[in-house]
Amino acid sequence: EKAEANPGGAAASNHVLIFPCPLQGHVNAMLKLAELLALSDLHVTFLNSDYIHYRLMTFSDLQTRIPATYPKFQFKTISDGLPPQHPRSGDKTIEMLNSFTSHCKTHLREILVSDDVLSENCKKPRVNCIIGDGMLGSLTADIGDELGMPVIHFRTISASCFWANFSLPKFYESGQLPIRGEEDMDRILGDLEGMENLVRCRDLPSFCRESERDESNGSLSTLIFETQQSLRARALILNTFEDLEGPVLSHIRLRFPKAYTLGPLHAHLNSRISKASKTTSSKQSSTTTNTLWEVDRSCMTWLDAQPPKSVLYVSFGSIAWISRQQLLEIWHGLVNSNKRFLWVIRPDMVVGKDADGDTPVELLEGTKERGFMVGWAPQEEVLAHQAVAGFMTHSGWNSTLESIVAGVPMICWPFFGDQQINSRFVSHVWKLGMDMKDVSDRKVLEKMINDLMVDNREEFTKSTDEIANLAMKAVREGGSSYSNLDTLIEYIKSTSE
Ligand code: UDP
Repeated sequence: EKAEANPGGAAASNHVLIFPCPLQGHVNAMLKLAELLALSDLHVTFLNSDYIHYRLMTFSDLQTRIPATYPKFQFKTISDGLPPQHPRSGDKTIEMLNSFTSHCKTHLREILVSDDVLSENCKKPRVNCIIGDGMLGSLTADIGDELGMPVIHFRTISASCFWANFSLPKFYESGQLPIRGEEDMDRILGDLEGMENLVRCRDLPSFCRESERDESNGSLSTLIFETQQSLRARALILNTFEDLEGPVLSHIRLRFPKAYTLGPLHAHLNSRISKASKTTSSKQSSTTTNTLWEVDRSCMTWLDAQPPKSVLYVSFGSIAWISRQQLLEIWHGLVNSNKRFLWVIRPDMVVGKDADGDTPVELLEGTKERGFMVGWAPQEEVLAHQAVAGFMTHSGWNSTLESIVAGVPMICWPFFGDQQINSRFVSHVWKLGMDMKDVSDRKVLEKMINDLMVDNREEFTKSTDEIANLAMKAVREGGSSYSNLDTLIEYIKSTSE
């Protein structure tokens, strides 16, 4: 028998609990959604791990900005079960996720059923809807069933990647997967609706490669299982927009009739904040940052001193890690291209026994002349800077959307998960850049940089401008993402009636 979520049938409430996976890209996107809902006057509780919350409050402006802007927004935290000194990032990320998922169910339930935590002496209404990260799909679906509370899943990946992941069982059943070796890599997958003749085995999540299989194949089965769990949710939220992924979305909606596209969320939030500040004459900045790392702003001063459209920005997101050999190969490619570059090298990014080896003199010299390196950059601002002409990216979905909105073409060097399919779409569907997938070679990179920034620059500019305009149209009043947010809010309100 299900427990009562709203014992005594209290008056209709509009209080959403938002529960992200404790990773930078997920927290970033779900916080943007949380702010959008709070701007629309819903009560919002954002539930984070202690560790992520501490970093957010230390390195972002949220500690002051949220209470000053949204009286109905509160943060709550739960433990990820790890000791304070655990690194939790880079190649230790999976360990952190395993610990978090095994700990958080009990805490989440406790928070949802406890009166004093969420209703704060009855000043706030009870939570009437959970928006859970679809990567932890079963957890929120189970809790929702148990408490009789509606659950909506938010996927922080592209619609195309979600659909490809959802279709994986079909490919295993028909024998098209697994990917046994190099000989399979360029084989196109048949019957992937909405992406016909496009997706090769090498464009699927790297878990599908036998070479990356862990002992129990745990990562792959978790990916398949959690993706299917979204069928149990009442609705699905995707950080994308109709003009970008329309064909795939129409297939997704055959299985998920309530699929709301609200993206690009960062642009959507910025646009709604500036609209709200015009009507209320409030002074809130229209660029918000949700960073978990200390931002080094010296790169903005360096960018100010560079000529327009002259710099390649290089960043591999918050998790990806590389070997020293890969670092040097990329570094040679950057220096040999003779272009200026701004490179984010996180302190935990280079791993392996030789992570701190000597650096060849020509690389140090080349960097002194034309390069700049930081541990973490204000990425949205960097991409919007007039000196930036290209982005070498790991093709994380947030980075891809940020580049799309800024109209910056990309060189994609994907690592894992959704990045493989994003880079395929960037290069072959949207024509916004080139895909260096599965290659790390200084000569290939040098040529790609010159193609992107010199030889094919005009062609890329045409497509990046066009798609950036479509992205902005989607989030302005009357656009698809703008209208979908209003519909979602009505839907959330209807769940409390
Ligand atoms: N990011 C940033 N500064 C950096 C590198 C990354 O602010 O120096 C932000 C970036 O803007 C994006 C997020 O970190 O919002 C990375 O998310 P993404 O989905 O691209 O990749 P992930 O880190 O999840 O692999």
